[in-house]
Amino acid sequence: MQHHTQTIWNDSDSAGYEPLLSERNMDTVEVDGTDLPDHLTRDSLELPELSEPELARHYTRLSQMNYGIDSGPYPLGSCTMKYNPKFTEDVASLPSAAVHPDREEDSVQGTLQIYHELQEYLGRIGGMDAVTLQPPAGAAGEFAGILVAKAYHEANDEGDHRSEVIVPTSAHGTNFASAAMAGYDVVELPENEDGRVDLEALSAAVGESTAALMLTNPNTLGLFERNIEEIATIVHDAGGLMYYDGANLNALLGRARPGDMGFDIMHYNVHKTFATPHGGGGPGAGPVGVCERLAPFLPTPQVRENDGEYELFEPDETIGKVHGAMGNWLVLLKAHAYIRRLGGDGLRDASAKAVLNANYLASQIDLEIPFEPFHHEFVASAGDRDAADFAKRMLDYGVHPPTTKWPENVTEALMTEPTEAESKATLDQLADAFAAASTDDVSELENAPRQTSAGRIDQTSAARNPRLSWQQLDDS
Ligand SMILES: *Cc1c(COP(=O)(O)O)cnc(C)c1O
Repeated sequence: MQHHTQTIWNDSDSAGYEPLLSERNMDTVEVDGTDLPDHLTRDSLELPELSEPELARHYTRLSQMNYGIDSGPYPLGSCTMKYNPKFTEDVASLPSAAVHPDREEDSVQGTLQIYHELQEYLGRIGGMDAVTLQPPAGAAGEFAGILVAKAYHEANDEGDHRSEVIVPTSAHGTNFASAAMAGYDVVELPENEDGRVDLEALSAAVGESTAALMLTNPNTLGLFERNIEEIATIVHDAGGLMYYDGANLNALLGRARPGDMGFDIMHYNVHKTFATPHGGGGPGAGPVGVCERLAPFLPTPQVRENDGEYELFEPDETIGKVHGAMGNWLVLLKAHAYIRRLGGDGLRDASAKAVLNANYLASQIDLEIPFEPFHHEFVASAGDRDAADFAKRMLDYGVHPPTTKWPENVTEALMTEPTEAESKATLDQLADAFAAASTDDVSELENAPRQTSAGRIDQTSAARNPRLSWQQLDDS
């Protein structure tokens, strides 16, 4: 029975092999079934005979073999793994939060009010005139946003010739995918040597076939695009729309608004900016905001207020539904609770600290950081060391490592985003882990991690061919 674990974990080195319950005790519980009717008994269920403490400890040990934001810092650049305050869970656990999506509008006025307020808050934060809460993730928001752009061009009889979406090479991979899924030809735009959009290349790329430009700001190097007004003018003059990938809004909250910069469409990653859980395959939310002329194309339903009553309505030229009900209600409720608790000043403070923390951490580590000045994240170079090995070694020092090997214009990139939620002491602990991994022998890096419950795994197989249950492990 042990063979399967060895393909996943290097048992010899790792501290915590945890046997399956059935391996722990093969004696099965004898259930006296004489009092039960025949049709309720069966022979096939073999429950191992274990006491409650044995069970409690088994599951507690399993939970400790994982690393999460509740166990330590998680500076995974671009992902904004910020700590999710527990009060949002309390709000989402209230009995009154459990509402069926098909309830009559007049019986769920409170729920609709929260949706409506969240539409308004996000609109105000992004400088957008209308917001849909429906898309279930950032990438799903991009896709919905690009479908809105497409519907707009079609309504103007320009759908046929506006066939291209321009995406800078440094953009998040989902931008290319969303545009392609919406049926567009993707035009990649190279960045200039400062790591920003190259205006000449942009002018050469836009034209009658441009449907939209998708821009991430601050970009993946943590840099604020300097020429946004010019970029917007070039794209708008050519009849294209400006799309803002707002996944990095944590750097700008309460300070700058995409709507004011000339963007027509944006998505928000509530799990990055508004402290709701990161998906991991679970429910998420990626609301989309648009300027007034695009509002009629938003997904249906939207919520509006009419004389103190909240009601659902269908935008006139809606692209239809992109998710069940109004989106993932409990995730949205947590975002609403977070925004309400922090308020405008608190959100502004969060973005200040996100930027301060990234800059403080960068000042404490001794690696080259080629692109500056950065905001909420920075990309350090592991130099002649392999960034992935470097990252694995950081695990041995008790912290989660940064994102590695991306973006590609930094050699052996370590893309680092501490978030605003970490204290100075925690940032110093991260800096110590960087320093320790920098001075370790290369062989030490190559054999890392040694102190974690799982040793070096085959990441490609783990991603492409995941075995997510013990049955699948047993079969292999
Ligand atoms: C995370 C991220 C996305 C995608 O968001 P998901 O919720 O993971 O789908 C898009 N763009 C950028 C810049 C991101 O960092």
